This record gives sequence, structure tokens and C-alpha cells, in this order.
Amino acid sequence: MAFSLPQRLASLPPYLFIDIDRKRRAALAAGHDVINFGVGDPDQPTPGFVIDRLQRAVRDPVHHRYPPDGGLPEFRQQAADFFRRRHGVDLDPEREVLGLVGSKEGLGHLPLAVVEPGQRVLIPDPAYPVYRAATLFAGGLPYAMQLSAENDWLPQFDAIPAEVARAAVLMFLNYPNNPTGAVAPRTFFERAVEFARRHDLVLAHDAAYSEVYLGSERPPSVLEVEGARDVAVEFHSLSKTFNMTGWRLGFAAGRPDVLAALAKVKANLDSGAFGAIQEAGIEAYAGIDRPEIAATRKLYRQRAEVLCAGLRSIGFRVDPPKATFYVWAGVPPGYDGMQVANKLLDEAFVVCIPGIGFGEGVANYVRFALTVDTDRIATAIARLRKLHW
Ligand SMILES: *Cc1c(COP(=O)(O)O)cnc(C)c1O
Repeated sequence: MAFSLPQRLASLPPYLFIDIDRKRRAALAAGHDVINFGVGDPDQPTPGFVIDRLQRAVRDPVHHRYPPDGGLPEFRQQAADFFRRRHGVDLDPEREVLGLVGSKEGLGHLPLAVVEPGQRVLIPDPAYPVYRAATLFAGGLPYAMQLSAENDWLPQFDAIPAEVARAAVLMFLNYPNNPTGAVAPRTFFERAVEFARRHDLVLAHDAAYSEVYLGSERPPSVLEVEGARDVAVEFHSLSKTFNMTGWRLGFAAGRPDVLAALAKVKANLDSGAFGAIQEAGIEAYAGIDRPEIAATRKLYRQRAEVLCAGLRSIGFRVDPPKATFYVWAGVPPGYDGMQVANKLLDEAFVVCIPGIGFGEGVANYVRFALTVDTDRIATAIARLRKLHW
């Protein structure tokens, strides 16, 4: 019996870097010392104070049963407290906060909650691949908003054709931005909210890196903008802030009717994050100003300096990221990003991700994740310098 993939799966590009990953594993198996800047997954462990709370919570039988729909009330309250302290925004934890099994889960389910098959969804190019995949799963039609260095990697709303803007029901944004490391100023969010209002579309803002800022200024939340809660939902994650990618915990905040629709999708597909993990998440947000968290930012800042200086000396075009743990690098003349990614892997056993994995309009870029310690970064740079460019 033949099984053929349904169109919605077959139409997705192979998850990014399949080729690169195959080569990486082959190089490892052959005994080479591979330096991996590929994965966007923190190398540092979860802070001890969060782990301690999980260890206690896991023994509480209340968590051995299904958690409450929408998340533990205490977790939602803590998320609301975080919003008040950080962003000066007062959220109703019951209506304006929804617990998620990691923010990818919420982003991935969102189009099922708000998009009718055939409707338009505005997606940045480049972007985290989940927005597009989730749109296609819901039968939506992606429209690529091209980002570029000239526009500080912010979409130009004026450049969206009027009929597309009129037909669109959902727009994804992501600042601080993966893969470019760009940060959006508050004035940009004001324009985005105004655009969403004018065209009556849902604005989904992915804020997974809001606490991974490398400068002195904290990135704003879209919900700080007057009236944003009528149009926007913002997705937060513990993964990058607290080195908790494996734990699967996040939340969405903002527009209540959209959160209710998303909760309805989720009620039919998952039953929420393990209660003990939510309890640990409460501890994490309560400790967000602890020195451990600031130390992680400092670590990424130092790594970024070493990597950017090194790449620049070889002919890459790079600016230090303002936030996130990615260095987004324009490749040396005469190459495209895919060629550079292959060259680095084949000739130096250094893994990075070609820009094409994030969108069609950024073929001359590669992304390096700063999840490698400084000594190894120096080793990687030394290897790259020896290559013939
Ligand atoms: C890592 C990442 C996420 C976080 O996903 P989780 O499911 O919370 O681990 C979301 N958005 C972007 C852009 C990311 O890079």
C-alpha cells in the first residue's frame, strides 16, 4: 500500500538544513571536530533556582493530573505580573493570558484559530519557518513581506499591495528578530498596530527573545502601544530567557477573543504543559532580574564581539546583534549563503545556516548561533582564516 504525503506536508520545504545536517553528522561520524553554530538552542543549563522548584513540584500529586485549561492560574498571574513590571501593561490573567506548551505550539496553532482556508497571512521574509508552515496547515495563503538591511529588517507596510492588505486576516512579526538580530522601536509597533487596525487583521507578535537583549535598552512589547490589545497577541517563551528549550513552556498575551479561539484549538489538541513545569515557570519569572539571567546576556555579548570581529576580518559583512543570540552575516563577495555554509562545513567543519532556510530574499546571508563558547569561536575563526577565499 502506498502512502503519499498530504499536500500540506509535501508543499513544505524540507525542514531547513537537512542536507547540512546530514553532512554534519557524517563529519562527526568520520571523527572530525565539528563546531556547530547551527542550532538556536542555548548551550547553558537552566538556572538552579528553577530546577530546585521543579524538583519540589514534581512530588505534588496535584500535578500528576491534567492541568487546568489555559494554564495554572498562578502561572497566568505571574505572567501578568511580569508584564506590569517589565512593560507597564496591566493584563487580566484570565482573559488576556493563555499558557502554552512552548511558544512554538501557540504560534503553530494560531492560524487554525483565526484563518479560513484561502485567506491571506502576512509573513516576514526572512522569518522563523513555523509561521509559514502553520499558515499552510490551516489552508492560508502566505504573503512575504521582504525585510532588508536598508530598512533595518522591518517590514514596509506601504509596500504591501492594497488588495493583499485588505484580504489579510493575520500578520506575524518577530522582534527581537530571528534570524537578523534586529530590534523594533516602539514607533514601529505603533505603525504596526495602526496598520492592523486599519485592515482589521490579527497581529501576532513573537517576542521569544524579548529578554535576550545585548544592548542596555530593553526591547518594547507591542502591547505597550495604546489600543494594541484590540488587535495584537504577543507570544512569550521561557526557552531562550531561562535556557529552558527542553521544558516546553510559554504563554500568549493580549487580545481576548483571539486567545479564546486559540484556547479552543488547544483544548482539542493538547491538555497544557505539565503543572510542575508551570510551577517552575512561576519561579523563573519571579527571578527574572536575578544575576544569572544578566550573566547569560553578558556571555552572548562577549561571544558576539569575538565572532563578529573574526568574521569581519575574513570579509563577511556583520553588525553586532542588538538582541538574540544570532549573528546574521552577509557573505563575502562571489558566494551565496548556501555556498558559504557548504564551504565552511566541508573545509573547516564549521556549521552555520544559509539565509535561504529563512526566506527567499536573503540568499547572500548566513546565520551563526552564539551557542558555542569563546574558545571554540576563536578556533572556528582560525580555521576560516586559513581557507582560500
Ligand atoms: C526559539 C524560538 C521560539 C521559541 O519556541 P519555544 O517553542 O518557546 O521553545 C519562538 N520563536 C522564535 C523566533 C524562536 O527562535
